[in-house]
Amino acid sequence: MQKLYSHNLRHLPKVELHRHLDCSVRWSTLLEIAPQTGITLAPTLQGQKEQFLITQPMKDLGSVLHKFLNAQQVLASEEILTRIAFEACEDAFNDGIRILELRYAPTFIEDGHANLNFDKIHSSLVKGIEMAKKKFHMAVGLICIVQRVKPLPVAERVVDFAIDHKDSFIALDLADNENGFEPKNFENIFQKAKKAGLRITAHSGETPDNQAPQWVRDSIEILGAERIGHGVQIIRDLAVMDFVRERKITLEVCPISNYLTQAFKTYEEHPIKDLLRSGIRVTINSDDPGIFATTLSDDYEVVHRVHQLTPADFRRCNQIAFEASFISDKEKNKFVSEFF
Ligand SMILES: [Zn+2]
Repeated sequence: MQKLYSHNLRHLPKVELHRHLDCSVRWSTLLEIAPQTGITLAPTLQGQKEQFLITQPMKDLGSVLHKFLNAQQVLASEEILTRIAFEACEDAFNDGIRILELRYAPTFIEDGHANLNFDKIHSSLVKGIEMAKKKFHMAVGLICIVQRVKPLPVAERVVDFAIDHKDSFIALDLADNENGFEPKNFENIFQKAKKAGLRITAHSGETPDNQAPQWVRDSIEILGAERIGHGVQIIRDLAVMDFVRERKITLEVCPISNYLTQAFKTYEEHPIKDLLRSGIRVTINSDDPGIFATTLSDDYEVVHRVHQLTPADFRRCNQIAFEASFISDKEKNKFVSEFF
């Protein structure tokens, strides 16, 4: 089989379901705006990478937390948010993505930015996306993230905000560390969102933990999740794998992210191929391409090189992602001939 590299894979039409808009800032833009937002850049390129990027497997969360805080600090004005939303779409388009779901946490962007509020953040991001949709032939949808680690009243405020803006949000997501923040804590607010018409996805089963498969099952049964962000730890439990397959739940798998956060020690240990071959609905995603300094094509390259996934596998994953995308059929169908 001919070897494929990310530069070959860039031309492949793709659907991406799992990309954090607030962690997708273009590198050149980050360096340009960081000094305007009070960050002193390191004098060398290597030092600057140390300030913002995660390119090696994480040893522990504490060792990389400052990178997330630096990347968050630059999201400091409406103008910046519009620009980064536009550029995130442009970068995705140039990487072959034709159907793109971006997600962000209003609480993450708002923290420490007294000049911003949920409304200003959202309208600025939507503006950037609308500009990009006029320029690039692509469909883009926005998912609202509830941060597990915030107090429940804050989570309720985020859900109410998402419901109030359901014309510009396609879905609700739950993110951050699961341990100690189990799905059942969020049952009421997620069921409320679902009743209001929002689709549901949830980060679950990402980090290695014996409880992870049960959290995935609970996210589906209790939160009403139709898709699972990551979900890769279900490989530990055949019964949960059967459950996920029978319910036709789509997994938003992010191979490079899983390696960098050490969900699996090596790429070889990553279960993407086993999940795919067992008939589970697997999609391939980049998660935080800004902070990881990657593209979605890099994720494709890795699973091709390490797990021998073929162009036929990629076609299948993109068809699954197309079907599972929460973007309206009317929007998606403009691209149907590129995927089927
Ligand atoms: Zn994620």
